[in-house]
Amino acid sequence: MRKQIIMLPGDGVGREIMEGAKAVLNAVAGEYHHEFIFHEHAIGGDAIDRYGIPLPEETVKACGSADAVLLGAVGGPKWDDVEAAKRPERGLLGIRKSLGLFANLRPVTGFSSLVHSSPLKTEIVDGCDILIVRELTGGLYFGTPSERRDGGNSVVDTLRYTRLEIERIVEKGFESAMMRNGRLTSVDKANVLESSRMWREVVNEKAQHYPDVEVEHLLVDAAAMKLITNPKQFDVIVTENLFGDILSDEASVLTGSLGMLPSASVRTDGVGLYEPVHGSAPDIAGQDIANPLGMILSSAMMLRHSFGMEDEAEEIERAVNDTLEAGFHTADLDLKKGRIVGTQEMAKKVIENL
Ligand code: ATP
Ligand code: MG
Repeated sequence: MRKQIIMLPGDGVGREIMEGAKAVLNAVAGEYHHEFIFHEHAIGGDAIDRYGIPLPEETVKACGSADAVLLGAVGGPKWDDVEAAKRPERGLLGIRKSLGLFANLRPVTGFSSLVHSSPLKTEIVDGCDILIVRELTGGLYFGTPSERRDGGNSVVDTLRYTRLEIERIVEKGFESAMMRNGRLTSVDKANVLESSRMWREVVNEKAQHYPDVEVEHLLVDAAAMKLITNPKQFDVIVTENLFGDILSDEASVLTGSLGMLPSASVRTDGVGLYEPVHGSAPDIAGQDIANPLGMILSSAMMLRHSFGMEDEAEEIERAVNDTLEAGFHTADLDLKKGRIVGTQEMAKKVIENL
């Protein structure tokens, strides 16, 4: 297959980890006779430096006509005081919104060689394999009004969802459960919130169409607790924007380093934006020490979710696992054994294991 991929390296470690992911993708393309065509564009501080704005129109247009987008990371102290950078809706949120990416997928997979880097007990995290499906374009983060009132003495935020918005993310949850182990946990706060009662209604309606999926409803407070006490009970978790934001950061602790975690933001037709969960890590940028695995695993998600290349995606994930099992890792992983390598060498080791 021939695929057009937009690369947005962005800032900080973004470019270093992107190089690693590109090398891995090219190796996979060679092996499976695909042709991946990469086009690089600017976003974030890099775009501010070059064009004066964090999200140039040209970047938006290129992403709109590509098969998928890979993003490194954006932001950093250099641009903290730049007015244009203070408007997130013009950067990362802007590109997600303009592409209509309403579902954020965050797998939390415990690599067995890394279980000791989790602060939780090994028997709790070993073998845990969860996919969090978070709604990305609605809820409290986007509802209006959102403002101070009464001369600053009261405040209002708005939690708004349409039935359609709930339906499409819930469907994504069911579809994901079908592709995995057939269990879906819907997380809400239906004992208090009207939006959650509608959410629960939609989940129960949709469940009729997926008889093979086992559905469970869980209140968000209970879900937060169970993620820590018994994470292995979960397969797919589907939830709204705010709950998903909090739970996915919580779940990331299960697997050790921030540098390991991939994410995808997708819509119904498969177009998606893939990025590591971590930020631009300005403290270690330019030193060839950043962990490229979050970015490399994000590109595996791209192959799976945007291109339908399940075998190729699994091959990358297996190669990552084998590389870690062989003892190679970057300095962020505190494994007390094996050999610490740099960003580019880590990517090379993964390629050798393909
Ligand atoms: P953002 O606001 O963009 O999410 P952040 O403040 O959450 O950023 P990160 O940039 O994610 O911060 O970095 C948090 C810490 O994790 C830093 O010490 C950074 O060096 C480290 N870190 C992040 N990504 C990686 C990586 N790929 N490899 C190694 N260390 C990393
Ligand atoms: Mg962060």
